Order: sequence, then structure tokens, then C-alpha cells
Amino acid sequence: MLIDIDLTGLPVLVLGPAGLTASVVRRYERAGAAVTLATSPAEATTDVCARARVAVLVGPASTWTSAREALTGRAAVVSEPVPDTPRGRVVLVGAGPGGPELLTLAGLRALATADVVLTDRLAEVGDVAALAPGAEVIDVGKRPGHHAVPQDEIERIMVERALAGLTVVRLKGGDPYVFGRGGEEVAAAVEAGLPVSVVPGVTSAVGVPGAAGIPVTHRGVSHVVTVVSGHVPLEPRRAESLAGLGGTIVFLMGMHNLVPLMTALARAGLPTDTPAAVVERGFTPDQRSVVGTLGTLPDLAARAGAASPAVIVVGEVVRQSEVWARRVATLDAAPIGVVA
Ligand code: SAH
Repeated sequence: MLIDIDLTGLPVLVLGPAGLTASVVRRYERAGAAVTLATSPAEATTDVCARARVAVLVGPASTWTSAREALTGRAAVVSEPVPDTPRGRVVLVGAGPGGPELLTLAGLRALATADVVLTDRLAEVGDVAALAPGAEVIDVGKRPGHHAVPQDEIERIMVERALAGLTVVRLKGGDPYVFGRGGEEVAAAVEAGLPVSVVPGVTSAVGVPGAAGIPVTHRGVSHVVTVVSGHVPLEPRRAESLAGLGGTIVFLMGMHNLVPLMTALARAGLPTDTPAAVVERGFTPDQRSVVGTLGTLPDLAARAGAASPAVIVVGEVVRQSEVWARRVATLDAAPIGVVA
């Protein structure tokens, strides 16, 4: 039997154990109903039943004998079958490097169906609540004055909510698999027996240089691009390997190590006049580039007060960019090589 009624504002009472009712509750909430949940007969008091216009029983009706009596003649009673598996699912979504425009259509769709969104500091897609109507939004990222939620706790929340039957979207900056610990989160979901999928995102490693007009590869200039974590200084042997590739090097998370990273590459034999740039806060109104060479970039960046989040690009491709051209053109007027 299908009854088509407008549920907006309608008091709906859902009766059933928490693990089985979470997805039912969300469904009615999304339809606009004012949902009350009773997870045990003790919670389904006469008062609670009297306020309901529709009651939804999840699981065996026999558990709710007294509630059914209290509801008779007052509310329509609907039975929902127990879901075979009360498991939800996990979707990792790459938010791109900034702003809602760089989220993919698949990411947008995943957010629209989310019951829970675990979001991050660098997943800046604007108003998450508007993109995921009715979803519980949990910010697990680091903010000034607040510690980030530890990784194992993020995974615990994600798995717990999904096991309760909810669709959990884990929204991550850039692409989930590029220095995003996406692999660990997928593993945690798989280990819990949950279905998991990954929606890729535009990674800052490619998108942010591009936002400053720097192509990470360029025909005849660079046909290799290496994305490196700048979180820890480069070991001499790794620096030599990178320098030996003769292509573009993109560092993420490297601003606090800018001096040792550039020094390591120079010691490894990369010419100090190799063009290099820092691109800060890509795709935001404050995007800024500091353009120089392997030898000059640390000093220029320090003088400009360049800070994270930023990508560092080293290689001849920097010379192809508009920011390089403007830097050269304005060198006398603005010797610190900062280009908005
Ligand atoms: N998974 C992300 C990277 C996470 S590591 C991705 O694919 O983009 C975080 C680092 O990404 C930052 O330290 C910075 O180096 C870079 N980053 C992310 N967003 C950025 C932005 N909008 N502008 C500049 N750098 C950014």
C-alpha cells in the first residue's frame, strides 16, 4: 500500500531500536516530518503517543503492544520491515582545493544523500549544511584554538554511524588519496564490513599551480611531475633522485620546511637559478604567488610572510606562467616577486 501524503511538519513517532531506526528517522526528517524516536516501550509513553499523527513501527510489532493501544484512533500506524542489514555505507569525497565550484557532480550527489558528513579544515566547499540537507555535520578538522579530532577517533565515528545504518560522507580537501589518509579510512570501513566508495577530487598538487598559471607539465619543458610531502625534510638520497628526474617537483605541506627543502635540492645538484614558486591559498580571494628561484625563494617567501596552506613548485614550468612574466616585468617596482 502506498499512501502519498505531505509530511511537512507532521508529528511522526518512530518506534524501534536505535540501530535499526536511524535511516528511517532520517528519511522522515528529510521529508519534513517532526520526528520523535522511541527506542524502547518505556519511551513510548501515552503522552508521546498522543502527540503523534503517524507512527512508524520498525521491527516486530509485538514489542509495542501498549504503544499500539495508545495510538489506536489517534495516529496512522505504518510498519517498516527490519532492514536485512542495518548497515549504512561510507563515501569518501574529495572536496577539491577550495570553493564549492571545484567539487565534482558525483561529490555533490553524495553530499545530497548523506546522513552524516565528517568534514575537514581544508574541505572548503562553503555551506556544507546546505549541500547536505538534514545531515549531521561534524567538523573533525583542526581550527585555531581547537585540536583536530585524532585519526582513530574520526574512523571510529565514521564506522559507528555507518554501522547504525547511516550514509556517512567523509569530505576531504583535494583528493582523498593524496596525502589525505584516505587509504586508512577506506581500510577502516572495509574492516568493519561496510560498503565504501571513493569520489575523487581535484588535487591541490595540480590545481593550485594551475590557478597561478603554472602548468605542472609542458611539452618540451617538463614531462615528469613528482608530488612530494614536504612535511619532513628531504633525505640527501631522495633529493638526488628528485633532482635527477629533471622534471617538476610539487611539495605539499612544506611551508615550515621551505629552507631545508630548497637547500636539499640545491645540494643535490639542482641549479640554484631553477624557477620556483609558492602559491598560497589557491582558489580563494587571497590567493597569492611568490615567485623566484631555488636560491631566492626561501628569502622571498619569508619577506612576503608566505604561509600554509600553500604549494611549492620547483621547475622550468614556473617560467611558463603568467606570474613569472609579471614577476620579471615588475621586478624593479616589486623586488620581492609577490604576485597576487
Ligand atoms: N588531499 C589534499 C592534500 C592534503 S595535504 C589534496 O589533494 O589537495 C594539505 C596540503 O595541501 C597543504 O599543506 C597545502 O600544501 C596543500 N593545499 C591544499 N589546499 C590548498 C590550497 N587551496 N592552496 C594551496 N595549497 C593547498
